Amino acid sequence: MRSLSVLGATGSIGASTLDLVRRQPEAWRVVALTANGNATALAELAREFKAQVAVVADEAQLPALREALAGSGIEATGGEAALVEAASRPADIVMAAIVGCAGLAPTMAAIEQGRTVALANKEALVSAGEVMTAAVARHGTTLLPVDSEHNAIFQCLSGNSHKDVRWITLTASGGPFRDWDAEQLRHATPAQAIKHPNWSMGAKISVDSATMMNKGLEFIEAYHLFPVGLDKLRIIVHPQSIIHSMVEYRDGSTLAQLGPSDMRVPIASCLAWPARMDTPLSDQLDLATIGQLTFRAPDEERFPATRLAREAARAGGGIPAVLNAANEVAVAAFLDGRIGFTRIAAMVEDVLGRYAPPPPVTLEEVHAVDARARIEAKSLMEIA
Ligand code: NDP
Repeated sequence: MRSLSVLGATGSIGASTLDLVRRQPEAWRVVALTANGNATALAELAREFKAQVAVVADEAQLPALREALAGSGIEATGGEAALVEAASRPADIVMAAIVGCAGLAPTMAAIEQGRTVALANKEALVSAGEVMTAAVARHGTTLLPVDSEHNAIFQCLSGNSHKDVRWITLTASGGPFRDWDAEQLRHATPAQAIKHPNWSMGAKISVDSATMMNKGLEFIEAYHLFPVGLDKLRIIVHPQSIIHSMVEYRDGSTLAQLGPSDMRVPIASCLAWPARMDTPLSDQLDLATIGQLTFRAPDEERFPATRLAREAARAGGGIPAVLNAANEVAVAAFLDGRIGFTRIAAMVEDVLGRYAPPPPVTLEEVHAVDARARIEAKSLMEIA
């Protein structure tokens, strides 16, 4: 039996993770489950999985969580410090699946345990960059990538040396608007943006997929996870989302990982690593029915986010944290109907033009860069 904590248990990745755990109850002991404010759903999960502790980041929801867990013997806690404390409780594997830079502190706390962290929370790695990778090295932590592309690359790199890599190619579905022209993009609505053609995901990452910022964040994520250098990373649009990414070696061999568009596959690969486990997804890749796998170059005129992310990665230091924070503010504003779709990337570019912090070297400094970039982004909205 292995112990597991799920940060962001009530989200899409949390649900996929717990779906796998539910199928193997004898294999897992659940330590901590966390949410932001969804106390009812969290309490249900905590009871089902007999968690040791359930945490709501939003302390105002703690009374509701306590009430929902009354008589269960499960600890209920709330607030940011409680979230970090729960993330630092010993667990064989911690699934880091909070959305946004809000997941950074608990993810770092999990990393500091020196065990295994399955990382879905890409915004945390994008923002903290070297601060996080240094912590991983210092604590001897195993960091397993959950993102389907990075999980694919991780699998394709297995048994090979980074120095033999010629290219790492991240595939992108292109999102729901991949065939839309500039005029249509200007009028894209939140409901259209969160309706992804291939994947079922949380609202924020769905919007990121529509703008292609998701691929931009993944580009930076890949840069940190697989140190082959920025010049060996590239992006290709592959609308079917069957090939999850590829690695080309110097001898001309290209290894790719294929699978159904279901996050339970990469999550299972992390939960079982370095072994394999059953999932309900075997037999789901029917290539004869799929028929064709197609590819095209990304269009950075219509979708400038990948260019912005590449430039931020090249600038390094605190710039990716600024990119991420500005994007989080812009996506939230778009989802609330306060800005249009094409304004998201434009706002990120504007904030990058206004704020160029020195490289943060501590977690506190990363948080300070993130906070200041959010202020810049919000002030831009007031001007507009
Ligand atoms: P969801 O929006 O579905 O879930 C987010 C989770 O984080 C929920 O449990 C939510 O709690 C919690 N949360 C939100 N805000 C805070 C906060 N301020 N403090 C603490 N907890 C918070 O997101 P996804 O599951 O889609 O994505 C999670 C992460 O995984 C993201 O970084 C995303 O980029 C990454 N990812 C997701 C994929 C997917 O298929 N969904 C694929 C690859 C990567 P509550 O329910 O209470 O709001």
